This record gives sequence, structure tokens and C-alpha cells, in this order.
Amino acid sequence: MSASLVPDLPAVVTPGRLFIDGRFVESLSGKSFDSINPATEEVLTSVSEGDRADIDAAVAAARAAFETGPWPRMRPRDRGRLLLKLADLISANAEELARLETLDNGKPIAETLNVDIPQAAEVFAYYAGWADKIHGETIPATNDHFTYTLREPHGVCGQIIPWNFPLLMAAWKLAPALACGNTVVLKPAEQTPLTALRLAELVAEAGFPPGVVNVVPGYGPTAGAALAAHPGVDKIAFTGSTEVGRLIQKAAAGNLKSVSLELGGKSPNIVFADADIDAAVQGAIRGIFFNQGEVCCAGSRLFVEESAHDHFVEALAGFAGALKQGDPLDASTQVGAQVSDEQFEKILGYIESGVQAGATLLTGGARQGEKGYFIQPTVFTGVDKNAAIAREEIFGPVVSTFTFKGIDEAIAEGNDSNYGLAAAVWTRDIKKAHRVAQALRAGTVWVNTYNAFDTAVPFGGYKESGTGRELGVQALDLYTQTKSVWIALD
Ligand code: ADP
Repeated sequence: MSASLVPDLPAVVTPGRLFIDGRFVESLSGKSFDSINPATEEVLTSVSEGDRADIDAAVAAARAAFETGPWPRMRPRDRGRLLLKLADLISANAEELARLETLDNGKPIAETLNVDIPQAAEVFAYYAGWADKIHGETIPATNDHFTYTLREPHGVCGQIIPWNFPLLMAAWKLAPALACGNTVVLKPAEQTPLTALRLAELVAEAGFPPGVVNVVPGYGPTAGAALAAHPGVDKIAFTGSTEVGRLIQKAAAGNLKSVSLELGGKSPNIVFADADIDAAVQGAIRGIFFNQGEVCCAGSRLFVEESAHDHFVEALAGFAGALKQGDPLDASTQVGAQVSDEQFEKILGYIESGVQAGATLLTGGARQGEKGYFIQPTVFTGVDKNAAIAREEIFGPVVSTFTFKGIDEAIAEGNDSNYGLAAAVWTRDIKKAHRVAQALRAGTVWVNTYNAFDTAVPFGGYKESGTGRELGVQALDLYTQTKSVWIALD
């Protein structure tokens, strides 16, 4: 697609190997897989394919680093210093990481440069600050005992991440786990392993002890499943589909390891007629088309109050159709390519099913161009609320719009989903905003905004969107356990 890309490729993309015990190694099986550039459908590079045996080796390295290595015994502030150094190395290599992420994932360079990479650095810097502030409490329970709690790391954490924000998801997982003194085996998604492997180089450069961070690329049903079931893993953290989340939970049951899951969504974006409609239209655009719709909290169910609906969806379709889609390395591109052939086909299948179910296609609905996994921003109206496009997570640039009348119907419709990751409400009425925010069963509710994130603010799901909260102080709960100590005084 972009000939300009070719001369720069060798500088950014190198073959990937597993990072175990501080060294880059080939997989034990000698197998490898290709990483594809979704914008060109061409092979970027080959990556060693980890499976069960490699996971065993990585878990053994992480176990040794935890049991006998310096990491959990290090002064917490010194752990923080290393995390801060890693944050600085990410920032120093931001342009290269952004290009690598864009090549591997297909998302626009403007986003990797301004969102993914700087936010990943910020997450490490934020948890660097927490490292020496994680402590227990004294509890005045009885007069004849001195009682206190200790916050201790779980030990070896397995972390399985998706392909939609590859480096950022690695940061969300690694930073709090490491700040708490755990060691980690990270499995990146097979579609996008490259930035996690570059991060492993930066981990080595920063001077983390061997075995503290291990990165094993590989497929979900082999490497991922082995990690989730591993008896030597004390905690498993997963971000991905609800379907795979269920498998992780089952696999974790063998040794009852601690589990946290950040799963799918079908988030309602609710616009009342009294809202600032221009702002709400832009919010709806951001809510569904950001990152090609490959966002777990995408505002894929858009409810517009009846009196504002027709005007609203017309404006929405106009802006959606005008978004600049194309070469992800072009700084002015707003919508890139879907991550893989499989996602591309799946999304086109959903669009086709929407048309079959009688929904009206207002804009989009087809692939863009002839090469690359580009799908046009797509707006449906007149959608049957039981249709697949209305209920299932599409994970693509496809929004279904509905009408409603009044606050009670808005809340009922918003909550009519098995998911509960995020929601938004647009209104100028502050009472209505608070009432709806409290009534919606979702882990995040945005009012007059969409996709607002900050490292300090927790994120996670109600219902089938997951368990546990990442980011903020809450993530420290995922990566520590509490020990109670009783000292007899009499
Ligand atoms: P998607 O279907 O959108 O690709 P997944 O939930 O399948 O999302 O993938 C998210 C992550 O989970 C990836 O790293 C993938 O390799 C991993 N994964 C997929 N299947 C399994 C499994 N059975 N056990 C463990 N991990 C898995």
C-alpha cells in the first residue's frame, strides 16, 4: 500500500524470539509464525512460536526470579526506579515503537504516537510511584494482641493480552504486577507480538533482573491455555473476548489461581434531546470509530431520544463517511485497517447479517479499497434490538442506532445486555446525568464525553464484561494479597 514504508522496514522490524530469563531464545519446537501488516496483507517478519514447553521454561524462570532472585527482596523504591527507567526508555523510543505498532496492528500513526505509546510510558511511570507506597495497616482488634496486615505479591503472574492496544495492554498488565513485586510471564496476541518483544529489549536495557519479565509469543489455545492452566502460576490476568475469558476461568480452576478478566462489551451511548447535539455527534463518532472500532468499550449501541434521532443520525452518517481512511503511516489518516483477515471477514459477516435482518445502512457497509483489511465506518439505523448486530460484540467500525422516549426507557434499554463494561450519557440536565450514571450497570460511565481514560482511574467490567479493576490504586489489589499477623502481647 505504501511504498514509502519499505526502506524503513529493516530498521524497525526484526524477527521475533521469545524472551525468557533475560535472554532472547528460539522456541523449543523450532516453530515460528508470521506477523502480517494488515494494511498491505504482507508478511512483516517471522516470530518464534512459543507453546506449552516454552511456557514451562518461562514459568520456571519467573518462579526462580521470585523465590531466589533479588526482585521481591529489593527495596520497593528501587523497583520503582527501574519502572521509571523503563517508562523513560519507552518515551525515548516512542517514534520507533509507534511505527512498529502501526505496522503490526494497522492503526493510524497519529494514534500510536499520541495515545498508545505515551500512555504506555505513563502507566509505567504511574506505578513506579506506587512501588514504595503499598503497605498494610495496624488493626486495633483486641487488647492482648498487636495485629497488622502485610500486602504481599502473589508470586508468578501469567498475563494474556489482546491485539487492539498491544503495547498499552502490556503496560496495564506489567506495571502494577511489577510494582507489587511479582514476576511475570506475558503472552502477547499472536496478531501483534512485535511491540511486546521490543519492550522486552527495553526491560533488559533498563536492568531488570533476569526472569522478572518473560515474554512468550504464541497462539491462544496452545501457549495461552498452557499459561492459564499452569500449576506454577499464582495469578492469571486476561484481556480479550468473553468467550476466551470463560476458558481462562475454567483453566485457572485447577490450582485455584487468582483470576482477573477484562472482557467484551456492547456499550450503550445514550443521547437525550436536551444534549449539546453537535458535541454528542462527535462523541458518538469517537466512541465507535476510534481504533477502527477495535475497542472493548466502543459505543456500539447508540440510543438517541426520538425527537432528536433523525437529525442526529444524518449528521453522524455525514461525519462517518468523511473520515479519512487509508495508509496507517500517513499522519492525517483517521481510520486504519482492521487487525487481521479473520477480523475483517467477521465484521463484514456482521454487516451482511444486519442487512439481512432488515436494518437500514446509512453509510459504509463495505471494504475500503482492494488491498488491506480496511472496512468503511458503518452506521445502521432501524435495527431490530434482537438482531445479532444489536446484541453481539462486533469489534469493528459498526454502530447500531435506536430511538427511545424518556429516562426510564433509556436506562432499561442501556442495561439490556449481558455486557457491562462502559456506557455514556449526553444531556444538559445534571439530575438526569447523575440518575442515569447511577442506574447503568457498567464499570465506567461517561457523561458528555466518550473514551476518556487516565492511568489513575480504574477500569473494568460489570456482568459478563469481567471481574477486577485495572489502572488506578485498584490494580494493586489484583497483584497483592493480604496477610494478617497476630502478635500476642500478654
Ligand atoms: P480475539 O477473538 O478478539 O482475537 P481473544 O480473546 O481470542 O480475542 O484473544 C485475546 C488473547 O487471548 C490473545 O492473546 C489470544 O492468543 C489469547 N487466547 C485465545 N484463546 C485462548 C485460550 N483458549 N486460552 C488462553 N488464551 C487464549
